[in-house]
Amino acid sequence: MRRLLVTGGAGFIGSNFVRYVHRAHPADRIVVVDALTYAGNLDNLSDLVGPAPALASDRRGGDAVSEPVRFVRADICDTAAVQALLAEERIDHVVHFAAESHVDRSITGPDEFIRTNVNGTHSLLKAARAVWQSNGAWRPGVRFHHVSTDEVYGTLTPTDPAFTETTPYAPNSPYSASKAASDHLVRAYHHTYGLPVTTSNCSNNYGPYHFPEKLIPLMIVRALDGGEMPVYARGENVRDWLYVEDHCVAIDAVLERGRVGETYNVGGRNEWKNLDVVHALCDLIDAAFRDTPAWHARYPKCPGASRRSVRELIRFVADRPGHDLRYAIDATKIERELGFEPKQTFETGLALTVRWYLENEAWWRRIQSGEYRAG
Ligand code: NAD
Repeated sequence: MRRLLVTGGAGFIGSNFVRYVHRAHPADRIVVVDALTYAGNLDNLSDLVGPAPALASDRRGGDAVSEPVRFVRADICDTAAVQALLAEERIDHVVHFAAESHVDRSITGPDEFIRTNVNGTHSLLKAARAVWQSNGAWRPGVRFHHVSTDEVYGTLTPTDPAFTETTPYAPNSPYSASKAASDHLVRAYHHTYGLPVTTSNCSNNYGPYHFPEKLIPLMIVRALDGGEMPVYARGENVRDWLYVEDHCVAIDAVLERGRVGETYNVGGRNEWKNLDVVHALCDLIDAAFRDTPAWHARYPKCPGASRRSVRELIRFVADRPGHDLRYAIDATKIERELGFEPKQTFETGLALTVRWYLENEAWWRRIQSGEYRAG
């Protein structure tokens, strides 16, 4: 049985990870620490963490059956708070997701990215060291896993080989630069102090609970609402997509069997141009409206309700400054060493995702209205 501290567990990947671990390892103790920024949403954990007690910011799972996950609202930059939690909960695994994660926001406001991604990661490393190391010796069985991104490697031309774990870092956005800095700090804490760390650098994720500012969920909710579907430039940028639960399985494999001090690239060997992703989503939504008349009444503004294709909503917009052309992950190391293999193909994963957004309108409406921030 592990005692996990999951930072950023109310965000997209973190909440999927908490749900996955709870299912795959029901005996694990899971403590989520999250500051609930605009990207943090307790609705993402509503099946695991009970309704909020009035005025309390700390939702504690007193009853192991009904509340298997403890939620603590705290900022990872608050080293003392994190340190107290690590000690109180006798945490032996930190899984660090908390970050500012949206490239566009890093272009308009980089400061928060440096604060959370760089200083916040350093704060966690300090806290882990303070609690897990005494007289130079590390508590047995502890592990700090850092969740990072393929964007630290920079951009590829259409013919470059995919990123490996030894590709030199060349981050191009304030987001990827801040993640690169955090990766370096994690590495340095291992090299200098011996902190038992692992790092994973994953490609683009998609799936349930994805905040509708990112490409795939934005396209789906705009299509269902009959709004414009904005695509940067001509949609030629290439991303390597992985279904979120496959990422969670990969992280769990690294936690369980990954070698201390190592980094693992995670991806699905699944490169797609943005415009092709958008077209695939349109085809899935069109098919859903053709096959299920109930969606017509639920989403009357969607062109599918008038038997038209949602492709008519696609609009090409001015490109993002410094937009990386292509990312691609070579996942050979994690495949060979840990036997990782994604369960979903892009076709099955996208179909699951479109269905989830069709069926969970209340979840994304509460984000659109801002109600999700009220708890
Ligand atoms: P997200 O933006 O959905 O979630 C981030 C979470 O961190 C939110 O719940 C937010 O409230 C929390 N948070 C932010 N600042 C905090 C702070 N100072 N203290 C405590 N909590 C804070 O992000 P995501 O897409 O789930 O990404 C999670 C991690 O995975 C990030 O580190 C990201 O770099 C990495 N990653 C993401 C992708 C992707 O495609 N989304 C791919 C590879 C790696």
